[in-house]
Amino acid sequence: MIIILKPGVTDEQRESFAKDLQTTYGVSVNTWKGTQSTVLGLIGDTACIDINTVAAQDIVESVRRVQEPYKKANRKFHPDDTVVRLPGGQQIGGGTLALIAGPCSVESEAQILEVAGRVKKAGAQFLRGGAFKPRTSPYTFQGLKAEGLRLLNEAKKETGLPIVTELMSVRQIDLFLEAGVDVIQVGARNMQNFDLLRELGHLKTPILLKRGLANTIEELLMSAEYIMAGGNENVILCERGIRTFETYTRNTLDISAVPVLKRLSHLPVIVDPSHASGVAWLVEPLAMAAVAAGADGLIIEVHNNPPKALSDGAQSLTPDQFDEVAAKLKKAAPLFGKEVR
Ligand code: PEP
Ligand code: MN
Repeated sequence: MIIILKPGVTDEQRESFAKDLQTTYGVSVNTWKGTQSTVLGLIGDTACIDINTVAAQDIVESVRRVQEPYKKANRKFHPDDTVVRLPGGQQIGGGTLALIAGPCSVESEAQILEVAGRVKKAGAQFLRGGAFKPRTSPYTFQGLKAEGLRLLNEAKKETGLPIVTELMSVRQIDLFLEAGVDVIQVGARNMQNFDLLRELGHLKTPILLKRGLANTIEELLMSAEYIMAGGNENVILCERGIRTFETYTRNTLDISAVPVLKRLSHLPVIVDPSHASGVAWLVEPLAMAAVAAGADGLIIEVHNNPPKALSDGAQSLTPDQFDEVAAKLKKAAPLFGKEVR
């Protein structure tokens, strides 16, 4: 349920009203204060609340029931876009097009330093790289693990780029916090690992939440809700392609998910054209489509030597190819109200 308060309501009036709702109905109250209005979002069992009683209060402008099961992620609870900001000044959302680039896996010091330097030069503001890899086969490269995190930090020291890397298990959380990971990625395969999501809800670190291979938009938002319910509201949603009957591409990029998510939620939405397509030549057109659809950023795989990559070589751009794609994205972004900073 959301309650829109009349303009001019004082903080004191609002706080006492919110307290009253909490004690009378046992719900928790989320407050969003905009320039024009104040919205109270009620979370919990609101079925017993009589809408007319609430609407009759002096300070109440209007009351609405919210049908959607996600609340904190719901735009109705938070009409303004959320902007995820990093201490270094980088941001995702709020009119910028964030570029996150780097290899699928961190493979060696020389590899990550070279790629980091090149993607930074091309205009990326974040470095991606997997240290713990969720591979379909247990016999393929599983990532450099803790050593991979150390190498990412070396690259961060050299370039100043914040690190985005995937966490696969609750057991890795302390290691990630000690390593100073800037943005924790939850991969497609873990989107509904509810135990993990709950734990990440207790952190302050931004979470890049990827859509599962076979999950609906609502399920993605419910997973974001798991994280936000614990108090971590720095969630970035990522459309990375879903399984369909089409086999030409690795996945099918659900481009409509971008405007749909932006409509339903205030959270920033980014697109991963690399995993969506599985082939390098499709990365540029899908990235362009994502910008046109309103994405707040892109996460793109770049490798210094794709034919020799230990994972996802076929979809990885060379640094030269990334230079070109980044230059085109910078030109296209302003047409869609975004800027690459
Ligand atoms: C990745 O980013 O390398 C990755 C494994 O992504 P996803 O979880 O989307 O498959
Ligand atoms: Mn990958």
